[in-house]
Amino acid sequence: MTPYRPHDPFDIEALARSLQGLDLRRDAAERARAGSDYHWYSPVLAGALRGREPHLVVRPRSVAEVERVAAACARHRVPLTVRGGGTGNYGQCVPLYGGVSLDITGLDAVLALEPGRARVQAGILIHTLNQAAAATGQQLAMWPSTERIATLGGFIAGGHSGIGSLRHGILADAGNVTRLVVVTLEDPPRRVVLEGADIQRAHHAYGSNGILVEVEVALVPRVEWRHSIALFPRYDTLLQFGLAAGAASVRGELDLFQMSAVERRITPYYAGLRGRLEDEDAMFAQVHPASLAAYEALVRAHGGRAVVAGTEAELLAQGLPSCTECAYNHTTLEALKSDRGVTYLQVAYPAPFSPELVAAQMARFGDEVFMHHEFSRVHADSGGELVAFALPLVQYFDEPQLRALIASFEADGCAIYDPHTWVLEDGGMKQVDEAQLAFKRQADPLGLMNPGKLRAWDERVLGIPGGGL
Ligand SMILES: Cc1cc2nc3c(=O)[nH]c(=O)nc-3n(C[C@H](O)[C@H](O)[C@H](O)COP(=O)(O)OP(=O)(O)OC[C@H]3O[C@@H](n4cnc5c(N)ncnc54)[C@H](O)[C@@H]3O)c2cc1C
Repeated sequence: MTPYRPHDPFDIEALARSLQGLDLRRDAAERARAGSDYHWYSPVLAGALRGREPHLVVRPRSVAEVERVAAACARHRVPLTVRGGGTGNYGQCVPLYGGVSLDITGLDAVLALEPGRARVQAGILIHTLNQAAAATGQQLAMWPSTERIATLGGFIAGGHSGIGSLRHGILADAGNVTRLVVVTLEDPPRRVVLEGADIQRAHHAYGSNGILVEVEVALVPRVEWRHSIALFPRYDTLLQFGLAAGAASVRGELDLFQMSAVERRITPYYAGLRGRLEDEDAMFAQVHPASLAAYEALVRAHGGRAVVAGTEAELLAQGLPSCTECAYNHTTLEALKSDRGVTYLQVAYPAPFSPELVAAQMARFGDEVFMHHEFSRVHADSGGELVAFALPLVQYFDEPQLRALIASFEADGCAIYDPHTWVLEDGGMKQVDEAQLAFKRQADPLGLMNPGKLRAWDERVLGIPGGGL
């Protein structure tokens, strides 16, 4: 059979007949829900992807049912898009050409919890796994700020890093994800086990090269992190502090799980903080109890004030937000709740990271850009290097303005991980991942998985321009 091409016709009734006995939904509300994720953060994506939804939503209850769906989609040449929590920001879950939305959240079993590792079904909520791990005195090494609503499989297929990355690096660093079991889109499907470096073949591929059904990830001893809010009179001073504290954490002198720098024009968007933080810039952090005194002393040494410190439960009891939900893309979410005029960018800085460059950008962009930086570690498996990257809020006018802003950041030597595209390579990667493409040829030879998201497949295999609709 030749590979599926965008807009090829398919017989959804024949597919539905062959899936009798499974949990199938096709009412308008279910289809609309399955056609949405958090791509509406981007006005560009909201416009381009409007109205794209699946014909059929299928909720498998077992791996055998997943295999039945995979075989039927291959047999009937129907596109299939996997859906976890649906919290992706780039339209990853939006089926561009309809077909099946495979809701994987019914596969949520904990298969094994052992010292240092968890083996689970891919549709488990990250929060549920963290709770199960806590009962064994352990926790995950990292999670997205959507920990309460995102699935582990979705984080691996669509995410990058998050809370905990300051201590344990990014998801792709060796040892964080240790084993994947993937169901291929063939008739009959195969179960492929990926371990070691082979994990990268299916990691962060937007569910375009196999259905993750089982995942093994690292666990670390549980810490009752102290959520700390520290205030600084100037944003560049706050960033200087972040560099000093981050370097101390890489040297092992401070044990830090998260550090998120948020400037004063953003914090009023956070429910619970409005009116409570004075006119200063804030560092939201999660700090090991044994490091808290030294961390707060370093805050003071940089001219800041530590104003809040407590466990997550203590902060919530005071009506304050958890520091987890003041970080990463929660900043954009909190802003969008009251201000639909904003959107965001993702900015990597040239090394060494320069707070002076950020100050110059703030002066140049004025009210168009509000700054927010995350401190993280990459290559944590080999010692680790501290990085700081920005998720600034942008007051949005139109797409040309956004493109001009991106060009201005790039002229400073910054790299933009464009959150205003649904094409995998055009976002953060900027290049073809040959290993992922080779794996797609094996795991999805008909090109049915999440079609339209992989530029390399469209251009090299189908011979059509990537990024079309
Ligand atoms: C407020 C907010 C904060 C966020 N913070 C972070 C953050 O800190 N770090 C971060 O990396 N991301 C972050 N994100 C993005 C997103 O939440 C994460 O990527 C999240 O982990 C996705 O999980 P999910 O279950 O919602 O995946 P979904 O959105 O359901 O899916 C994401 C992609 O993975 C594919 N997929 C899902 N499950 C499977 C599977 N079992 N097999 C194959 N493919 C699959 C889907 O087809 C889709 O392409 C944030 C998003 C929001 C809205």
